[in-house]
Amino acid sequence: MERLTNISTVRELLSRHGFTVSKALGQNFLINPSVCPRMADAAVTDENTGVLEIGPGIGVLTNELLKRAKKVVAVELDKRLIPVLGETLSEYDNLKVINADVMELDLNRLIAEEFPDMRVVVCANLPYYITSPILMKLLEERLPVETITVMVQKEAALRLCAAEGSRESSAITAAVRYYAEPQLLFHVSSGSFMPAPKVDSAVIRLTLREPECKPHDEKLFFRVIKAAFAQRRKTVLNSMASSLSLDKSELSGILESAGVSPTARAEKLTLNDFARISDAMEEAGICSGKQKNTGG
Ligand code: SAM
Repeated sequence: MERLTNISTVRELLSRHGFTVSKALGQNFLINPSVCPRMADAAVTDENTGVLEIGPGIGVLTNELLKRAKKVVAVELDKRLIPVLGETLSEYDNLKVINADVMELDLNRLIAEEFPDMRVVVCANLPYYITSPILMKLLEERLPVETITVMVQKEAALRLCAAEGSRESSAITAAVRYYAEPQLLFHVSSGSFMPAPKVDSAVIRLTLREPECKPHDEKLFFRVIKAAFAQRRKTVLNSMASSLSLDKSELSGILESAGVSPTARAEKLTLNDFARISDAMEEAGICSGKQKNTGG
């Protein structure tokens, strides 16, 4: 069904299905007609592509993805939207809708079963309440996907795509950069959605690649990153010592042996610095990635 960006069509559709939007599920539907084609073009660059979409809503982005891709699998948590999607996307035979919480799915298995012999990408207008957990799940599970093209809140986009060493960088910036090359594609105003959220948004694309550094213990590496950024105004020594309850003089020695100044701020450290710190901590046996994470 075309015109899913027409407000009266959408209102009529939703009222016919007795549907009211759920704020808790982050339901802000795109009504700006230029956004979905741009997102779909950025995500699907050849016909032999399988797309995993998270949160299709009423299908406005799904419609554009279906026109370009070989197959789309759309995972929607809200079961009230399943009959709506059945109506809006009835013309397509290359769509599978799964009514599930994406956080609960075995995505490696889903991709292997649904997209044999296809290049696979993820594309979504993400529910904002759960942006970081979804992105970290997609990255940490090492899915065989080439790119992740997603709409997120503008602030999150700036953090996720921040340059190494910049003020905007944070623990999630470092985590994303470990797995992927991030790129901010374009900004989207809050008026492009119904209902309009309080903040503007942006579309980013993560291009997955092999990590450039190889920490011995990946869990410890991520604990170190979280601990270093936990109190980002403090020095890396003070932030890590308080987050991980470590003795400062011992930690100071570890940082120096890893070639990192204890008085540096976390935002100034590279992924290689974090890898050397976690390797030095592992060697000194003062922390283990298997311990419970106390970092922020
Ligand atoms: N793609 C549509 C659009 O652009 O208009 C809707 C995007 S809306 C921001 C987010 C969608 O994600 C909603 O349809 C919501 O029900 C769905 N959603 C929320 N949490 C989810 C979860 N854990 N798993 C799957 N879908 C979820």
